[in-house]
Amino acid sequence: MPGPLKTEAIVLRSIRYGEADRILHLYTPHYGRVPAIAKGARRSRSRFGARLEPFFHIKTLLHEGRGELMTVTSVDTLAPHASLRDHASTLDAAARACDAVSRLFETTEPHPEVFRLLANELVLLSADARQARAANGLAFRMKLLLAAGIVPQLAACAACGEGEHLQGFSAAAGGVVCNSCEAASFALDEESYRFLLDALGRSLADVPDASDRALRQAERAITETAEHHAHVRLRPLLRTW
Ligand SMILES: [Zn+2]
Repeated sequence: MPGPLKTEAIVLRSIRYGEADRILHLYTPHYGRVPAIAKGARRSRSRFGARLEPFFHIKTLLHEGRGELMTVTSVDTLAPHASLRDHASTLDAAARACDAVSRLFETTEPHPEVFRLLANELVLLSADARQARAANGLAFRMKLLLAAGIVPQLAACAACGEGEHLQGFSAAAGGVVCNSCEAASFALDEESYRFLLDALGRSLADVPDASDRALRQAERAITETAEHHAHVRLRPLLRTW
């Protein structure tokens, strides 16, 4: 990576390191996920203050360091998202969103659309705690699958192309499957199918809620797709199916 880099970033993880340092996972619009170190960040008089906590949207200057880690040399806050920490539910939803980005986009490959999606999700969660709901979290993940190039096929049977009788979901086939192709699939209700379509087609704030059963089926479809096509295990949002 060429240094120095002046970039926006969202702090995905912030890990204590040594006596006073922090190791950071930063998500950036143009350099993907960047590992960095902030030296002396935990000292009380650190010039970084508290700006390197998870979920902070920052503007930062990074210099090439030794090995894989970039060195943080300056930080400005664009959005602290402090209100995320007011509720356990929003804190948890934000942590899961950052974790899903971290697992599905762990390289320096640029995905500016993923950066914007995550930035929007954090704004939404900090503005309205009611958005810390399963439907929002699942829609966020569906949009991540789209950005990763592994979104499930929903328009027709992923195995034979049939447009009717789409009653199952098969991650191996790559999406919904019809009743003749459902051998390796699990049952997908009409409501769950609609939910997956809405998750892709609507903005995060407007994704409608669905029944628990539909959300569980949608989560299973998303989780199995990430496992099968990206070999990534996402943390469960709802209980297991
Ligand atoms: Zn079929």
